[in-house]
Amino acid sequence: MRIVRTRTELADWRLGVGDSLGFVPTMGHLHDGHLALIQAARAENRHVAVSIFVNPTQFGANEDLASYPRTLAADRAKLEASGCDLLFLPEPATMYPPGFATFVEPGAEAASLCGQFRPGHFRGVCTVVALLFHLVRPDHAYFGAKDWQQAMVLRRMVLDLAFPLTLIVHPTVREADGLAMSSRNHYLSPEERRQAPALQQALAAAVTAYAAGERHPAALIETVRRTLATEPAFRPQYVELRDAETLAAPDNPLGERPAVLAAAAYLGSTRLIDNVLLGDAHHLLQTRG
Ligand code: AMP
Repeated sequence: MRIVRTRTELADWRLGVGDSLGFVPTMGHLHDGHLALIQAARAENRHVAVSIFVNPTQFGANEDLASYPRTLAADRAKLEASGCDLLFLPEPATMYPPGFATFVEPGAEAASLCGQFRPGHFRGVCTVVALLFHLVRPDHAYFGAKDWQQAMVLRRMVLDLAFPLTLIVHPTVREADGLAMSSRNHYLSPEERRQAPALQQALAAAVTAYAAGERHPAALIETVRRTLATEPAFRPQYVELRDAETLAAPDNPLGERPAVLAAAAYLGSTRLIDNVLLGDAHHLLQTRG
């Protein structure tokens, strides 16, 4: 696996690769969720590039930029074993050189859910991903459904700004007890780790109600809240049901369009997010710019 840190080295490598490049952008502290994206990229492309960059522009002033886990040696070993061809490892100044002033402003998809509580977050995500797309020039780019809002914000960006690539959304990879894998799970104490699956169980209770015919957003949200309350350690930040594509208010009662039921909740000082899709959202999982 080649490791490059500068724009010039990356451009030189890219010239030799030709078409069929799959790309997985990450912030590191890699787990099996990331590795599933890399595996999908390997299956569908001749070459695979991964970036590790803890992007300062997507963190709020009181968020965990400084303490975000940085585990390069372990990440490198996992990437070597995964068959990744190139690791792009830029410094902040490589991505944002002095004088950097241009940002990508996302639309309404970024306003609800996490966007209400993390102002500027998706602007930072769009800006760094646009920049990474220009530098890496992938044919296919892979993102996780765990961050559904991020995937839909980026889907809109790829369509609106005509990025010449296909954005692919991969299903959420979970621990055996249902907890969505996340680099932030490592902040959980052993007791919090035992409590953490309650978030996914609460969403699963609403999936059961949906499968039994419940179509009222308020009832589905209430099912999540009630189930989550059985684990009092959780402090919910939001539980919302949204149109899966636009993230606007859904039809009431839910109709043909798929919806996403999403929640963010704190366990101690750790903020966890998770979501489930209701209805057939298949067409949103692959988007050509
Ligand atoms: P991160 O390093 O957290 O920025 O994540 C990098 C990519 O991996 C993003 O597209 C995430 O949505 C995706 N990802 C993170 N956790 C999971 C998971 N449990 N299952 C699937 N994809 C994931």
